[in-house]
Amino acid sequence: MAEQVLSCSGLTRDFGPFRAVDQVSLEIRTGSITGLIGPNGAGKSTLFDVLTGMLAPTAGTVRLNGQDVTGFTPEKLFAAGLGRSFQIPRPFARMSVLENVMLAPLAQIGERVSGPFLRRSAMRAQERAIRSRAMEVLDFVTLAPLADHPAGRVSGGQMKLLELARVLMGDPAVILLDEPAAGVNPTLTGILIEKIEELNRQGKTFVIIEHDMDFIMRHCDPVVALAGGRVVFQGTAEEAQANPVLLDAYLGA
Ligand code: ADP
Ligand code: MG
Repeated sequence: MAEQVLSCSGLTRDFGPFRAVDQVSLEIRTGSITGLIGPNGAGKSTLFDVLTGMLAPTAGTVRLNGQDVTGFTPEKLFAAGLGRSFQIPRPFARMSVLENVMLAPLAQIGERVSGPFLRRSAMRAQERAIRSRAMEVLDFVTLAPLADHPAGRVSGGQMKLLELARVLMGDPAVILLDEPAAGVNPTLTGILIEKIEELNRQGKTFVIIEHDMDFIMRHCDPVVALAGGRVVFQGTAEEAQANPVLLDAYLGA
């Protein structure tokens, strides 16, 4: 296994004349939980968008397991083991929680079994397999009791767990989470952290954008700080805690 599961070099993204992500070079260590911090507008979500193929980079490269994946579609990257959650999830509100989770891997399934010769029985077998995997994943994130509820009716915290469930359908090696604890009550945050740490013990790598510094300091190492689209700090959680600029800007000390 590569020591760096995900890396980028000189990654840049412009919106017209505005540079949202500016020459970001990062190496995400296999098995780590990297915390990504920075003020609003620092470019954190845009960096995730560029890393996961949602947005094309203006310049720079992205590597997954050593392979250059710059310009790959999100579906292809998901299939290659890179999963992400969104800061503002957009589930299909009228579909059930279970159906929303089942939809996550369709792009992959499409690639494997598409074509006019797919037999109906094979399709039913696929659907059964996806359904049973989706139930397993929902059970893992403690949402199994809500499987048949409309996704539009679950709480904000449950929505974050649903997002995690969708990501897990791809069995990703690397999971990027955009503010997973924002607006989530302490009980559900506790469950989320427990699940993240359990998945991490199983070998999954995380990059987590979070404003809650207590969350970052307790669960993330290393810590990367972005400001104005640039990496302004990279170090251990301990070093972050001792860094006067970070203390000022993010820790409210
Ligand atoms: P963060 O997640 O760190 O709060 P974002 O990555 O969402 O920051 O945004 C970084 C900057 O890029 C902000 O100034 C934002 O307004 C701008 N931005 C993000 N997406 C777009 C877009 N699609 N078009 C134009 N500007 C954008
Ligand atoms: Mg953001």
